[in-house]
Amino acid sequence: MSTATALSPEILAKYQPVIGLEVHVQLLTATKAFCGCVNQYGGDPNTHVCPTCLGLPGALPVLNRKAVEFAVLASKAINCTINERSVFARKNYFYPDSPKGYQISQFDKPLAEHGWINVHDADGNLKRIGITRLHMEEDAGKSVHDGFADSVTKTYIDLNRCGTPLVEIVSEPDLRSADEVFEYLTKLKEILLYTGVSDCNMEEGSLRCDANVSVMLKGADKFGTKAEVKNVNSFRFIRSAVQYEIERQIGVLEDGGRVVQESRLWNSAEGRTYSMRSKEQAHDYRYFPEPDLQPLIVGAAWQAEILTQLPELPEARRARMIAEYGLSEQDAATLTATREFADRFETAARQSKSPRRVAAILLSEITMRLRAAEIEFEQSPVTLAGIVQAADLAESGAISSKQLKQLLDTCFAEGHDFGFVYERDKPQQISDTSAIEAMIDEVITANPKQAEQYRAGKKTVAAFFVGQVMRLSKGQANPAVLNELVARKLDALGPL
Ligand code: ADP
Ligand code: ZN
Ligand code: MG
Repeated sequence: MSTATALSPEILAKYQPVIGLEVHVQLLTATKAFCGCVNQYGGDPNTHVCPTCLGLPGALPVLNRKAVEFAVLASKAINCTINERSVFARKNYFYPDSPKGYQISQFDKPLAEHGWINVHDADGNLKRIGITRLHMEEDAGKSVHDGFADSVTKTYIDLNRCGTPLVEIVSEPDLRSADEVFEYLTKLKEILLYTGVSDCNMEEGSLRCDANVSVMLKGADKFGTKAEVKNVNSFRFIRSAVQYEIERQIGVLEDGGRVVQESRLWNSAEGRTYSMRSKEQAHDYRYFPEPDLQPLIVGAAWQAEILTQLPELPEARRARMIAEYGLSEQDAATLTATREFADRFETAARQSKSPRRVAAILLSEITMRLRAAEIEFEQSPVTLAGIVQAADLAESGAISSKQLKQLLDTCFAEGHDFGFVYERDKPQQISDTSAIEAMIDEVITANPKQAEQYRAGKKTVAAFFVGQVMRLSKGQANPAVLNELVARKLDALGPL
């Protein structure tokens, strides 16, 4: 992580960073917010446009019902209260990518308020980050500078994005570190992906984040002046930008200066923020109610209907999966990172005798091989059924972990499923009792102390001998036969 100046840990520790986030999320509706144009990323410039989204005189907006449903769904997922009546407003400003001269947004009567997302604080305890509001608005077009020979003197405008439905999610200034910011964004994205309202693709701009950062002396009762870091295009960069900004502001204050309220841009190549424009103390957007749209009424019945589309959300799902399958926190977190991954795991886990082993195989063996082959799970030669079979065979000891790895290697090398390769290459098993007995004798002689423990009544030591013989046989001893013979041999030694 880059640092603004070399500040000692003692100096950094004197200050309390305070961060609030404004996140814009494009909704995955088929059409735009107020017209029938296709809502799709890309396309030839200025082909997804009509009089309404171009702001031509006389063209009237008609609110997209699906956009409202998605916005309500997102609001519920982040624990917001829906205002039954919300009001669209015009936010007036001039910018070339906004032909109407104003943006339709919501101002003093937003769709939803008073939500929260849980994140871990520095001590590892969960705390609530308040969500001030979620409101609906429309996206602007894009200024294009790349790809034109004369782009030094000209700006090109692509209005395809104009009128794309957005929600803006504003957090309270409750975040206290760059790590908390990272976790908040990760969780918010996870939740939104679960609800299916957005693809949250930062590269394509369907999730965008502005971070408001200030610092104050610890124990101070008033927040410091904030600077806003705009449009950073990955969560990792946002973490770096926030950390940079915290240290920059501390540096300014330590030098006896004052933090200026302004917008700053992150330069990822240099790992620092630059002043973009100083922010007017009071915005002068001259908001007024949008005269072409009725107030939006989302009554209890409609809310209830939308609520039926809300899936089990990541946090609840994690808790349930830990309880139901005995997973570790870490594994549960990884498995629930996306709804698809969690569904995949649970489909397999429910068919297997050992969900934990399914988790282990999915998270390490399969993930590793998919990554090496640079393919997605959909292209994996090993299907969910194959994973279930592999897990059950490994769990029963019928195949050793080394054999499991070899079989999976073969699957990925040949493009065959696990069942096929296992049936064909089934590891040779030694079921010949005299051969196994000889190995057991050898192991008992080599480990007199453990044999004594067994004879003294500690029956669990049998597993140790089973393991030793498995190793000696290179995993080829038939586990059922082995288990039985080890117990019989040890019992034959008689009690101490
Ligand atoms: P503005 O009027 O400048 O838009 P708001 O009060 O609407 O400011 O807040 C915008 C965002 O800035 C919110 O996410 C809020 O939590 C955050 N914020 C407000 N004050 C501070 C502060 N002193 N330090 C850090 N973030 C802040
Ligand atoms: Zn249109
Ligand atoms: Mg504001």
